Amino acid sequence: MADSFAGPLLRQLAAAARRGEPCPSNRELAAALGLGMPQQVQWRLRAAEAAGLITIRRLRTRPFRVVAAADGSWATAEAAPPAPALAPRRCLNCRRPFRPEHRHRFLCDPCGARNSRVAL
Ligand SMILES: [Zn+2]
Repeated sequence: MADSFAGPLLRQLAAAARRGEPCPSNRELAAALGLGMPQQVQWRLRAAEAAGLITIRRLRTRPFRVVAAADGSWATAEAAPPAPALAPRRCLNCRRPFRPEHRHRFLCDPCGARNSRVAL
């Protein structure tokens, strides 16, 4: 195996795959490997792919790629893990606690619906 240039990188990818995680970004991999620039990760990925050590499937959305060992022993996850649930907060209008489905939500469902009708 062409361990000299790709070994540490492949070990990082295999570890992420074993944890059920998607492929880390070039920036994250560069930091983990002590490489100065994310481009150095890109170069190693391309070289490992060209050497037949891994297959890379490009995606349109995050995580943008699925990397798999050529022998099928591991593959990074296709989807990012689900976002952690947000803590309940109080509605800014009626002060009742509610569980927001995203960070920029400050009104409970009834108040949010009423608010959008009034705003229009
Ligand atoms: Zn409310």
